[in-house]
Amino acid sequence: MDDKLMLMIPGPTPVPERVLQAMAKHPIGHRSADFSAIFAEVTANLKWLHQTENDLLILAASGTGVMEAGIINFLSPGDKVIVGSNGKFGERWAEVTDAYGLNTQRVTSDWGKPLDPELIRVALEADTNKEIKAVIVTHSETSTGVINDLETINKHVKAHGALIIVDTVTSLGACNVPVDAWGLDVVASGSQKGYMIPPGLGFVSVSAKAWEAYKTAKLPRYYFDLGMYRKNAAKDTTPFTPAINLIFAMQSALQMMRKEGLEAIFARHDRHSRATRAAMKALGMPLYAPEGNASPAITAVMPTGVDAEQVRSVMKKKFDIVLAGGQDALKGKIFRIGHLGFVSDRDILTAIAAIEATLLELGAVGVTPGAGVAAAAAVFSGK
Ligand SMILES: *Cc1c(COP(=O)(O)O)cnc(C)c1O
Repeated sequence: MDDKLMLMIPGPTPVPERVLQAMAKHPIGHRSADFSAIFAEVTANLKWLHQTENDLLILAASGTGVMEAGIINFLSPGDKVIVGSNGKFGERWAEVTDAYGLNTQRVTSDWGKPLDPELIRVALEADTNKEIKAVIVTHSETSTGVINDLETINKHVKAHGALIIVDTVTSLGACNVPVDAWGLDVVASGSQKGYMIPPGLGFVSVSAKAWEAYKTAKLPRYYFDLGMYRKNAAKDTTPFTPAINLIFAMQSALQMMRKEGLEAIFARHDRHSRATRAAMKALGMPLYAPEGNASPAITAVMPTGVDAEQVRSVMKKKFDIVLAGGQDALKGKIFRIGHLGFVSDRDILTAIAAIEATLLELGAVGVTPGAGVAAAAAVFSGK
């Protein structure tokens, strides 16, 4: 049915009507006082969301672009870095550090498992000459639905003294990422995930310690030179033409977020993650991420007895609900339910009911009609 599409994928995520309306205006000049006032409000509210007093820079780029910026601005060719890799995104950052000629040490876990903070501790303690300049970690590994233990990993990095550079693309705006309380140096995320606006903006916060490293960092940079963004942010503008209408959208979305409040936003994502997991278990569908390391943004399911791609296909054709598939080696093996950003309890119940109907249609064995919805409803009622 036209105009009924429901995105239950980990980006792009649903956009509220008022945010769409905010975008549907003529652009204004970005060197105007009107624009600077909006830009200042957006930056202040993003700092609130990031729980930081650090510089918060806004780039016209997707998440990968700001993450690349977050890496190249603080390092020099040949620098030793540790990259945590337990999924598609962790591996992507290792590809970036390889591409820039850094000396990359991968610390890996199997896909579907969290990174082992002990392996990172051991690698850092072995580095007595302090050659490791940065540790790069993906907080919520979207490809597998696993959340890594950033708090513990960060403690080990702090004990060593290297910079910590974090991909928080599907954790910021979904769960607690206290940038200043934890002392996270470089924190990157993108607008089409937890921010309730379309793709196109990237955000990166930069600590004083990272700016120290910036002064001597020698990797080439130009469009992504964060020093230029910092200089211009002090004047409430950007070095190059910003994605003006997305800034309008961000202004509106952040006003909504401030009204809801950080605690309520985190509680909602946690509730949706628990309800979705409980529902899948009640339907006999194995969860891919272990208990205790489930992403607040995405639930990965490895179905038995039915084909993951068929589940996605029926969901789309019959119910206009888009689920994500598996990436790389997981292609065809898992489906992923996004519950990130502008998602309500009703959306979760709808998606679960549709998954039940889909499983029944596909003849999955052991599916009790209504069991998934009942399990999710129990989570919502706190019983
Ligand atoms: C979506 C995502 C990104 C960024 O992807 P883009 O397509 O460049 O926006 C990075 N890391 C994670 C964990 C993601 O989920």
